[in-house]
Amino acid sequence: MTSLKDWIRYGDELRRPLCVASDLDNSSAVCVVGAGLSGLTVAYRIATKRPDIHVEIVEKSERCGGVIETWTQDGWICDVAVNATRAHPAFWRLVNDLDLGQLFSASNPKAKARWISTKGRRRKLSPLLIFKGGPLKVWRALKGARQGTLSVAEAMPLAPVNDAMTLGIVNDRSAHVDADFLMPSLTRFGTEPPVKWKRVKDMMNGTYPLFTPKPGSTASFEGGMQTLIDGLVHRLESLDNVSFTMNAPPDTPKEVAEARNMPLSSVIWCAPLRRTAREFTELNVYAVGYTEAQVSSVKVGYGTLIPDETCPVSGILHESDVHGSPRAPAGHRLFRVMAPSVRSSSHEEVEASLRHLLSESTPVVFEHIGVRRIPSYPPGYMASLMSEDQSFTRAGWFFSGVSVTHVVAEAERIADRF
Ligand SMILES: Cc1cc2nc3c(=O)[nH]c(=O)nc-3n(C[C@H](O)[C@H](O)[C@H](O)COP(=O)(O)OP(=O)(O)OC[C@H]3O[C@@H](n4cnc5c(N)ncnc54)[C@H](O)[C@@H]3O)c2cc1C
Repeated sequence: MTSLKDWIRYGDELRRPLCVASDLDNSSAVCVVGAGLSGLTVAYRIATKRPDIHVEIVEKSERCGGVIETWTQDGWICDVAVNATRAHPAFWRLVNDLDLGQLFSASNPKAKARWISTKGRRRKLSPLLIFKGGPLKVWRALKGARQGTLSVAEAMPLAPVNDAMTLGIVNDRSAHVDADFLMPSLTRFGTEPPVKWKRVKDMMNGTYPLFTPKPGSTASFEGGMQTLIDGLVHRLESLDNVSFTMNAPPDTPKEVAEARNMPLSSVIWCAPLRRTAREFTELNVYAVGYTEAQVSSVKVGYGTLIPDETCPVSGILHESDVHGSPRAPAGHRLFRVMAPSVRSSSHEEVEASLRHLLSESTPVVFEHIGVRRIPSYPPGYMASLMSEDQSFTRAGWFFSGVSVTHVVAEAERIADRF
């Protein structure tokens, strides 16, 4: 049973299962596998709460941050993965505790507009689109979704908006995505709050350190998300009870426990596990810059989602419009372009499509800044987590939530066990 205090602290993150070993809190040392945002935050929360416990972070590569990385070049700043966070007190608490508040600001309120492009036509996303889709049909489907294990397409029969939404969040079509996983509050997955959700939200609003975000707004860091990773690593390196083991890719939690002579319940796995190559989708990410004059016809906004599979590009984010801190040299605008590998793997095709989508002109910057693999979450995924083995702890986006707010709130919930 979760208390009102927990709901005010974690909000609807409480609907997601917490995959924690029952004996974790008896550990005299823990080993956190994976140094992405999840592993780093779990390590930070446990190490600062319990200085008597040694926390080892084991990472397969030579760098921390996982999918988070910020590309920079001559005044251009572009995140390869997450670029901003939606509002959640747990994220604000982390920024505050790391003393990064000076570098963290609200997104530009003038860059809220989102568009959807279908058959070459761009429309603004608004409640009117839901109205056109038949509000009764949508309401009935959402009510039906409470039986669980449906896809987003079934729970929200509002094509092509549902495809645009799932593409934007998990780079997949709505028919392939678990509704319980993506929108647990709508499908009523998990536990219910003890009072009305609106009251919980109002009470949560009073708990934000730094600043209270406006409804629907996002916030980001000067210098991109790498600022958060650097802040976490810096703080962890200053703690006597934390150590890093880099370039070490263990295969299983058992292997980790045996090598350290520790119980399996002291392993916290924040990396992919038992996922095959087919259980990911892949995305090419580009930073594309223009002079303001070249893109003067592109309205200031958040971005455009493109569910149409004949277009090599699935999403364009207006990076220099959105953030409170600069992302492009003066007189220029930066766009982040996402191109799923299943649509095209040719940079030329992506660049050519931008002539229709953004500007006829040749961009002043066109840089392929990375490839990212995103876990798949098929219908029934969230319910299947309930029966998973609890002999060790699992956290991060390979398990019960996809967003940074989830990962950060989950880390606090895990540390609450100590
Ligand atoms: C393109 C893109 C856009 C995104 N946009 C948003 C957004 O707008 N908002 C939002 O909230 N979230 C967004 N996200 C999601 C967000 O980035 C993730 O939720 C978060 O970064 C996941 O962190 P993680 O630590 O769980 O996983 P990862 O970052 O994947 O970290 C896992 C770590 O484990 C390591 N590892 C793997 N195998 C092993 C092993 N065997 N042993 C040791 N180490 C191992 C990896 O090298 C890596 O460092 C986006 C993601 C992508 C890719």
